Amino acid sequence: MAAAAAASSSGSFFILRGAYATATATAASLKASPRTAFSLFSPHRLRLSPTPSLSRRSVSYVRATGNEEDAAKAAAATADSGASTIFDKIINKEIPSTIVYEDDKVLAFRDVNPQAPVHVLVIPKLRDGLTQLGKAEERHGNILGRLMYAAKIVAEKEGILDGFRVVINNGPGACQSVYHLHLHVLGGRQMKWPPG
Ligand code: AMP
Repeated sequence: MAAAAAASSSGSFFILRGAYATATATAASLKASPRTAFSLFSPHRLRLSPTPSLSRRSVSYVRATGNEEDAAKAAAATADSGASTIFDKIINKEIPSTIVYEDDKVLAFRDVNPQAPVHVLVIPKLRDGLTQLGKAEERHGNILGRLMYAAKIVAEKEGILDGFRVVINNGPGACQSVYHLHLHVLGGRQMKWPPG
């Protein structure tokens, strides 16, 4: 399936769906590969239980926990205070990150808590009021386009062009936890639909 645009009522903006997304599935399994060695316990998403003897992992959808929702609400409370975020430290190289792509406007680095074998965050180097997508104004059109194009470059570099997903969590209803606009680029496994 080609690009699809949709905004869920919860406030999550799922911008792109990969080629092989399927309809409702509450449980599934997939073959483990070296890239499936990732931990899953953050918002929205999937939990993998390793079954090494079979070289397979069972996959089931889980809801965001109360803690994640509370943390997201707490983060939202200071979203527009102008305070810097952890991403400023990454941009300024004050804390380490694994950079996948960088240009004059955009930085892409691996998520510290990956939800898929490939999970990269794409952010504007200058926040410029874009604490979240919901704050976008017409003047942000250029950087929003740059972010989308960078997501494609990341997918290409990571070898997931045939099936990847781009997600923007917007606001506490979507468990946004960092108030510096970021695109999640996810891939390297079969994506399911609808998402959690
Ligand atoms: P969201 O919940 O949509 O606001 O996404 C924020 C993302 O930032 C989460 O997926 C976190 O795992 C990720 N994250 C937080 N701190 C770091 C960090 N220091 N390096 C990389 N990713 C991070």
